[in-house]
Amino acid sequence: MLSEAFQKCIDPSCGLEYPVTDIRIECERGHLLDIKYKSKPQTSLKEVFYKRRNHANNIFNESGVWRFRELLNFCQIDTENIDECSRYLVSLDGAEGRLSKPYHMSKVSDYVGVQNMRLQPEGYNPSGSFKDNGMTTAVTHAKLVNIKKIICASTGNTSASAAMYAANENMECDVYIPAGEVAPGKLGQAFQFGAQVIEIKGNFDDALSASLKQAGKGGGYTVNSVNPFRIEGQKTIVFRALESLDWEAPDWIVYPGGALGNTSSCGKSLMELYEWGWINKIPRIAVVNSEGANTLYTLFNGKFEGKELRWNKGKPDTELIKNYYKFMDTNGIKPKTKATAIQIAKPANIIKGLRALEFTNGIVTQVSDSEMLDGMALVGLNGFDCEMASGAVPAGIKKLTSEGVIKKDDTVIGILTGRQKDSSIPVDYHKNPQNRFANPPKS
Ligand SMILES: [Zn+2]
Repeated sequence: MLSEAFQKCIDPSCGLEYPVTDIRIECERGHLLDIKYKSKPQTSLKEVFYKRRNHANNIFNESGVWRFRELLNFCQIDTENIDECSRYLVSLDGAEGRLSKPYHMSKVSDYVGVQNMRLQPEGYNPSGSFKDNGMTTAVTHAKLVNIKKIICASTGNTSASAAMYAANENMECDVYIPAGEVAPGKLGQAFQFGAQVIEIKGNFDDALSASLKQAGKGGGYTVNSVNPFRIEGQKTIVFRALESLDWEAPDWIVYPGGALGNTSSCGKSLMELYEWGWINKIPRIAVVNSEGANTLYTLFNGKFEGKELRWNKGKPDTELIKNYYKFMDTNGIKPKTKATAIQIAKPANIIKGLRALEFTNGIVTQVSDSEMLDGMALVGLNGFDCEMASGAVPAGIKKLTSEGVIKKDDTVIGILTGRQKDSSIPVDYHKNPQNRFANPPKS
């Protein structure tokens, strides 16, 4: 039975394969890995998924991740057998992904100039961000291979999610964070859920390399998005969006760009659904970087050495990436944005992200901090809560619409990645009457 799913190197000229039970984040030649499935899921499952929304107290039907379990069955279990699901699948009592689906937010639509737009608040996950989608699957794999301790680097949301699932599964959890760069609300969650916080001098990229080094020495099981099992869970963000559209693909799916795990998982889910005949149109991905942390924007759009970085059928110009990282290091260029969730200069999933962009004819844009804050504030005025990094989505859609890239009658799904965990950001925004949507207090 263990031959149905396997791990495979994403580099077409390498293609090394490993069993699902191997613990690794790359092939032995240093390339990222995919989880692959030998069988092709039948489209009749669409009906099964729909029916499971009436979950009848089955937490694996209630979960917005495990409701789609046939499309991520790396545990290779009998998905209709509740005992087997309970034994293998990690879930926070069905809460992950349960409340996230696309909503029409009229004030945002009017502002960006696209009426056929819906935003999906992934902040309504139990730990407050999209990370729970992938953490539930990464920790499921950790449990499958008898792990006692997980480890991650984080700008905050990953640590909250990892610590929450670790606490629930009686695992230990170490989180590496850039000292002074994590919102207090997110750091509070990691402490609250019993994780060991390790503060690293530097930025997220430094924290990630420290945690990967520690994991390499047997210091824990990595649950950052370089873990291919994380990506499997994050595919369900797209499944829920598509299900709400009766599996009719939209014209665009828009994400903020940080470590590019979301871009990667969106690409993988669309590649699979297309290959399996579940969708016959491929939506275009738009990634929105912050101007202060815009590595993908810079490289993709040829703003460094005049070369446009592409997947290039599996032969991306990795030298260009290395040169740009060296250029940043030599010139002391650090990522700087108030949207700390995407304050990342060296996106760990950049190669998978490029593959997703090529498959979907995707694009990359960038927005300023003040545009993100306006986007965040406007989502709030529709009665939904999101963090500043998620404000990049309405801001990016507005920019792309004004440039004529997104057309006014296009169908657009935007992913709001996390909930507000730094109350000082909206308070400061609204206290300053200069801000576009500010509603200053009266005395
Ligand atoms: Zn390889």
